[in-house]
Order: sequence, then C-alpha cells, then structure tokens
Amino acid sequence: MNEKGLLIVLSGPSGCGKGTMIKEIQKQGDYVVSVSATTRAPREGEIDKVHYHFISREAFQQMIAEDALLEYASYCDNYYGTPRQKVDELRAQGKNVILEIEVQGAFQIKERCEDAILIFTIPPSVDELRRRLHKRGTETEEVIEKRIARSLEELPLAKKYDYIILNDALEDAVDDFLAVIRAEHLRSANVKLDF
Ligand code: 5GP
Repeated sequence: MNEKGLLIVLSGPSGCGKGTMIKEIQKQGDYVVSVSATTRAPREGEIDKVHYHFISREAFQQMIAEDALLEYASYCDNYYGTPRQKVDELRAQGKNVILEIEVQGAFQIKERCEDAILIFTIPPSVDELRRRLHKRGTETEEVIEKRIARSLEELPLAKKYDYIILNDALEDAVDDFLAVIRAEHLRSANVKLDF
C-alpha cells in the first residue's frame, strides 16, 4: 500500500540502549539501519562499513563539500553524518530506513525531509544511564562524563520530537516503536490509493 519507505530517526542519550532496541526491531520487521560516516576511532569489535564508515577528518570535510551527507553534526569532539545516496536508494525501493543519530542531525533531517518520523528514547533515570554506560565498558571515565553532560543537554529536546519512548524494559520499548510505525504506515499521506 505504501510507495516510498519510511525515514525513521531514532535519538536518545548515549548508552540508553538504542543499539539493542534496533537489533530487536530488525528481528521483528524489515528495517535497514543507515551506516553513518564518523571520524571517531572504532571501538573494539566495530567493523568498518558495518558499524560505521570510519573516515579521516579530511575525508569527512570532502563529503560535506560534495553535499554527500543528508545531515551531519559534531558530537563529543568527533564528526558524524548520514551518507545521502544510500538512504535515497533504499527508500526508493520501499525499505524503511532507520537513522540512529543525535539531536542536531535529527533537526536537520526534519527540515530537509518533512515526512521523517522523529523518535526519542529516554532512559528511566540519569543514574540508570550512568550505570548502563559503565556496564558497556567501552569508554573511559572522562568520555562517560562528557557523554552524560551531553545527554543532560539533549533530554529537554525530546519534546521537539514526534514521539518519546521510555526504554526501561526492552520488550515494551520495542512494542511502542512498532506501534508508532504501524500507525505511520496508515497516515493518509503515506497511503497510495488506487481509486
Ligand atoms: P557513538 O560514538 O556512541 O557511536 O555515537 C555518538 C552519538 O552520535 C550517538 O548519539 C549517535 O546516535 C550519534 N550518531 C551516530 N551516527 C550519526 C550520524 O550519522 N549523524 C548524527 N548527527 N549523529 C550520529
């Protein structure tokens, strides 16, 4: 019934469980996650072109100059951006595309693609967020504190998103996400009528 795939932006504090949520969502439906470009160094276990396109600052600047990014932002001393072409291709094939990006990028997407659906995931509390970041164990104490400070700045912006999902119990968060998408598929603007 739908023509073009949906463009879904998922934001939320670092360590809030977006990655786990997305893995679960992909088990339950046909969603493609856009692979971002970043100047950040890979974490242990991260694979180039799978988790991110890990590129130099020069290569990132080049992508900006060529208008090859749908959006980009600086986050905790590194650049992150969404390669435009792949997203356009996937949506044209009718695939639902998820962008797991931070708030500055999300607002750029809202301006450029007015049909994008913006979802913000929130943790049960800041203490729980800190606990999850420590448990993940991929960042130094200094980076964790930087990310928490950034999260505290981002959280009030959740009100500018279309939907807010509490990520306490994973199963409930995934159910809420799927309910939003189900409703979005029925939005009159997204339905192609043959008569
Ligand atoms: P991390 O370093 O933990 O992988 O990501 C840091 C932050 O950057 C997260 O909030 C993540 O959602 C965001 N991010 C990842 N890719 C992109 C992107 O392409 N654009 C923007 N604006 N943010 C991104």
